[in-house]
Amino acid sequence: MAEKVFEPGVQAGRLDAQSYADHFSDLHPPLDAHEAVVAADRCYFCHDAPCITACPTDIDIPLFIRQIATGTPDAAAKTILSQNILGGMCARVCPTEQLCEEVCVREVAEGKPVLIGQLQRYATDHLQAEGTHPFTRAAPTGKTVAVVGAGPAGLSCAHRLAMHGHAVVVYDARQKAGGLNEYGIAAYKTPHDFAQAEVDWLLKIGGITIETGKALGEHITLDQLKADHDAVFLGMGLGGVNGLGVEGADKDGVLDAVDFISDLRQADDLKSVPVGRDVVVIGGGMTAIDAAVQSKLLGALNVTLVYRRGRDRMNASVFEQDLAASKGVRIVTRAQPKAVHGNGAVREIEFDYVGEDMAPTGQTLRLAADQVLRAIGQTLEGDDLPALKHRKIRVDARGRTSVDGVWAGGDCASGGDDLTVTAVAEGRDAAMDIHAALVAGNA
Ligand code: SF4
Repeated sequence: MAEKVFEPGVQAGRLDAQSYADHFSDLHPPLDAHEAVVAADRCYFCHDAPCITACPTDIDIPLFIRQIATGTPDAAAKTILSQNILGGMCARVCPTEQLCEEVCVREVAEGKPVLIGQLQRYATDHLQAEGTHPFTRAAPTGKTVAVVGAGPAGLSCAHRLAMHGHAVVVYDARQKAGGLNEYGIAAYKTPHDFAQAEVDWLLKIGGITIETGKALGEHITLDQLKADHDAVFLGMGLGGVNGLGVEGADKDGVLDAVDFISDLRQADDLKSVPVGRDVVVIGGGMTAIDAAVQSKLLGALNVTLVYRRGRDRMNASVFEQDLAASKGVRIVTRAQPKAVHGNGAVREIEFDYVGEDMAPTGQTLRLAADQVLRAIGQTLEGDDLPALKHRKIRVDARGRTSVDGVWAGGDCASGGDDLTVTAVAEGRDAAMDIHAALVAGNA
């Protein structure tokens, strides 16, 4: 490793090419055929399987594992994809240790769950590698639906609508489809451009047109979409980022973690991505962990993640917290930003330690920092949206908003947690309700 790794300041090219390749390779190497069968054989194929209940998309897990065990991985993939069309990405990014694998009876009894996530990846990769698409599109209905946002919720909704024969136009503000799968997830979770490959594969259903570079409120309006289409689904996620709200927060080197991750994901050469020597990440969710771990992997000397509550309140899973620690990220809890210091550019960030009641204890912490990454939550942007609830679009159990003919799902909508798999489920379920309404002539 070159000595310049330890130079202060935000700079690119801290590592040699081999280090970048090693650091950003697959987080979990895929199972081979033999390993998959061995892993599948550990499943008890439970009746009333708790793993199904724990899956937000209700995948029939024992069925697909049995299909792998009997040597039919493509059938297993179809079982998965019929419930979750982004099952390949979810196999990579789902916090399985908090969902299906946490409740697996072999986890409960032995502390070692069936490797559900890795088996799901094995099956979906097997099918997608063949380039085939297991679903066929129904005869065209003559109805058109606008989907705003080409992320997990929008793509899931679009695919299900297309399957039912509706024509779907997906609008996205960015230059590529994929949403957070393409722009917002750590590179080592989805190497080899998997996000785009999955989008390309999904579009094989037919009947879906993607229009990129079209932001709601800027290039398209809700009123126009309603006028041009028979129904509208809003799944554009959360475009805004909360500010630090402390003195000095506008200094150079203080960035949004989502922008940092997005730039990294879109870089042709990781050597071109600048990173500080002393990086401080503020937040306790997945974005914070992804930013912190990737800062370390890019060659930062010291990376500290600071969260204002206790570890048990962090949105990032215990697995993610442990992953960060294993990569050398220091985690400091119960501290909240007080001020950013420096002359033009950040040099230090000061925190108040806080108690259970979030009141400062009187003790402070100062950390050297040449880069500060904010990951303290995102906000919904836009005017003329349907009615809101807790600063998100209010939806009922079917995904219907306050505006007739307009549905919403994913991170921009109320209810559910901000997980990829939950967004997929919400997009799919809204599509089924849109389909029912279009068939009944109510949309
Ligand atoms: Fe298999 Fe575990 Fe699900 Fe039971 S709970 S069906 S053992 S994966």
